Amino acid sequence: MAGEKYVYDFSEGHRDLKELLGGKGANLAEMTRLGLPVPAGFTITTRACQAYLATGANPEGLIAEIDDHLAALERAMGRKLGDAGDPLLVSVRSGAAFSMPGMMETVLNVGLTDASVVGLAAQSGGNDRFAWDSYRRLIQMFGKTVCDVPGEEFSDALEDAKKAKGATDDLHLDAADLKALVESFKRIFAKHTGYDFPQDPREQLRLATEAVFRSWNAERAVLYRRQERIPADLGTAVNVCSMVFGNLGADSGTGVAFTRDPASGAQGIYGDYLSNAQGEDVVAGIRNTVPLEDLEKLDAKSYAELLAIMAKLEGHYRDLCDIEFTIERGKLWMLQTRVGKRTAAAAFRIAAQLVDEGMISLDEALRRVSGAQLAQLMFPRFDLSADPTVLTKGIGASPGAASGKAVFTAERAVELAAEGEDVILVRRETNPEDLAGMIAARGILTARGGKTSHAAVVARGMGRTCVCGADQLEIGRDRVTVNGQVITEGNIVSIDGTTGRVYLGAVPVRPSEVVQYFEGDKVEESTLVDAVHTIMSHADASRRLAVRTNADTGEDAARARRFGAEGIGLCRTEHMFLGDRKELVERLILSSTEDARNDALAALLPLQKADFVDLFRAMDNLPVTVRLIDPPLHEFLPSLEELAVNVAVARERGEDHAEDEELLDAVRRMHEQNPMLGLRGVRLGLVIPGLFAMQVRAIAEAAVQLAGEGLHPRPEIMVPLVGAVQELEMVRQECEQIVAEVVADSGVEVLIGTMIEVPRAALTAGQIAEAADFFSFGTNDLTQMGWGFSRDDVEGAFFWRYLELGIFGISPFESIDRDGVGRLIRIAAEEGRAVRPELKLGVCGEHGGDPESVHFFHEVGLDYVSCSPFRVPVARLEAGRAAITGGDSDSR
Ligand code: ADP
Ligand code: MG
Ligand code: MG
Repeated sequence: MAGEKYVYDFSEGHRDLKELLGGKGANLAEMTRLGLPVPAGFTITTRACQAYLATGANPEGLIAEIDDHLAALERAMGRKLGDAGDPLLVSVRSGAAFSMPGMMETVLNVGLTDASVVGLAAQSGGNDRFAWDSYRRLIQMFGKTVCDVPGEEFSDALEDAKKAKGATDDLHLDAADLKALVESFKRIFAKHTGYDFPQDPREQLRLATEAVFRSWNAERAVLYRRQERIPADLGTAVNVCSMVFGNLGADSGTGVAFTRDPASGAQGIYGDYLSNAQGEDVVAGIRNTVPLEDLEKLDAKSYAELLAIMAKLEGHYRDLCDIEFTIERGKLWMLQTRVGKRTAAAAFRIAAQLVDEGMISLDEALRRVSGAQLAQLMFPRFDLSADPTVLTKGIGASPGAASGKAVFTAERAVELAAEGEDVILVRRETNPEDLAGMIAARGILTARGGKTSHAAVVARGMGRTCVCGADQLEIGRDRVTVNGQVITEGNIVSIDGTTGRVYLGAVPVRPSEVVQYFEGDKVEESTLVDAVHTIMSHADASRRLAVRTNADTGEDAARARRFGAEGIGLCRTEHMFLGDRKELVERLILSSTEDARNDALAALLPLQKADFVDLFRAMDNLPVTVRLIDPPLHEFLPSLEELAVNVAVARERGEDHAEDEELLDAVRRMHEQNPMLGLRGVRLGLVIPGLFAMQVRAIAEAAVQLAGEGLHPRPEIMVPLVGAVQELEMVRQECEQIVAEVVADSGVEVLIGTMIEVPRAALTAGQIAEAADFFSFGTNDLTQMGWGFSRDDVEGAFFWRYLELGIFGISPFESIDRDGVGRLIRIAAEEGRAVRPELKLGVCGEHGGDPESVHFFHEVGLDYVSCSPFRVPVARLEAGRAAITGGDSDSR
């Protein structure tokens, strides 16, 4: 678009421009506005990136705009980019709207050339070593990022140089060594690109900017976005920032810091510092850092200033911030800040602490946690009473308890995981190339790096268990040695992402304290449980959606009730037809006379009734929706193949096979090409006389019995798979008759409603509502029939491809498809309520426990969702969040 502004000076932006300037750019601008020491610079917008990626060329006017901003920067700094005598150097940094740690590229020291490297040395007071080190870093980063030169070529050359010198550390290389290294780096560069390393600083800047644009589509960035569900078309901004140098000597350095512990949420100062180093050395874990507190001894003034800035940032953002800084000869510079990623436990603790400190409201606290995080806290932990062997201890970087076979490469992690093995990926440190292996692994264990290392940050983001910085691990190519113990691939190790302990062998696990709290068990004093309690209470007080559970037994129902379920949204009665009752069901299906059928039904009646008594008792006073039998009856019979084999074998052996033969006939008769679309649901009730009647009688009798005990059962009979009001009317009439007869004057009230799970039902909901006291959306079938996808087949067969192609970002069976299936729900809700305003509306598909979907159901105005017992707290929390955010969900 002509005339669009593509470049913003740091002094022009602010924190709310994330979409345009990326998170890094928006926050650099915000820090500049706050008067913090940020090196001057400017940001090229994500819209410029989008334009570049769409057309393959810089949008019109961009280069001129960059030139203008560069000229202003040069004036402000009193230096010219890459000037031979006194060069201005810049970093060219990617930064998207969502943080994607280490996923895209940054090039430091842009502007260095054969000429300006001399000027840089002079400018730094004759520090030749520093100048040549900066230059070799530029060629290395530029070569790798901008020109796709394989990174190993550079790191191998660096290793060779160190070896030749007998040096163990980069710092042992002197100016002459680094100058020689620059020469070999330039040769590597020319060999791979076919041209010499560019000596025009402006061309370096342009090429680096375009490379950052392109890094948005790098394979690992694409993979990360898919994993994190970040939209693919946002693009990255590019920050051009004048360089400050942490590698100027012992009075310089670079570090990262958190204003609170991102793992536990505890207040305090957390971070790592590395003296005489440039930024990326810390994150990469190349050398061992010192704890941030040690900076006080090294440079008390900068330390005090840093603490003051951190306090200011926390107060300003009212949240945990993470920070990158560099000290250049005793002068502190802020290079980045953002609201920091954190573990689930830390998210709850910090939110509750900030409420206590009066910094945020309860609504805000609720907004800052998510159902996904709560689900993580419900993971089990290791049970240490068996006294497992502790191998070593690292830093607990991402909580959870994971056991699995040790593997030492990402490839092996992917291979073994594909074979169904649990694996723990053990690495010296991880880098973005390990991402696929990290996703495949149960847990990640590294020898190097702190809470801010790549492994730690990515694992936390994915909710993967991670222990990092276990520095006693000696990592070999195919083995790890630790305190004399050798571990080879396939040996089982267990890692505790909370304590950082690493165990040999598998360790049994115990439930989480949060689950114990939900269970109502006594929990020892726990700041986490207190925080969960505070926030859950607020969610419960805020939400409009009720949360029920899907449960088929009294036991499940009772547990779900402890978890806060306010009734049962789906009891599947077919589960009551399994086990030792199978024989009765077989008799029912095979009965050729009315008498035989009635006998079978009569035998089933007391069994069903007993089930309902259990269930109603567990859910006393709360509604219990019982779905009449739904699946195709052949599911209760042996398979065709199995029977055919039995009969053939028996025949051969001359054994009696009359019974199997009879069954085989029946199964053949009942065989359907497409059972999911065949004789099931309400169709069974209309075709097999007495089947629904028996179930309804069992429900009503159970309720009357409990009412007699002084309880208050509230049964709701639900008819599945209705597509036409006529079906429901017929079943309803039969039900009402039986209910009236059984209930008489016992005071029991029974509702009769239907599932909305066939698209036709949704589209004729106005008619169906005439015969229904309630609708419950069966979103599994509605999705299956709405899309025409067989739920049991698609996931493995082709969904991965659909996800890859971006046809949907997440399986519609996992999260409700708002546009299509969601529209059916909206129509049914509106048209149903128009006819019958008091119509109760709920959801009983898997979607009832999915955070995104809960927000949708809130928006549509349903009365309740129903989900599996363990998802109940998650649904409560998200229903609360939906109510305060007006249905806008951000669970990242
Ligand atoms: P990432 O998003 O991967 O953290 P950054 O753009 O923040 O990438 O840069 C990588 C490293 O380089 C960081 O440690 C950062 O602090 C450092 N860095 C970036 N720009 C500068 C600069 N102008 N001066 C000094 N160090 C810088
Ligand atoms: Mg950074
Ligand atoms: Mg169904």
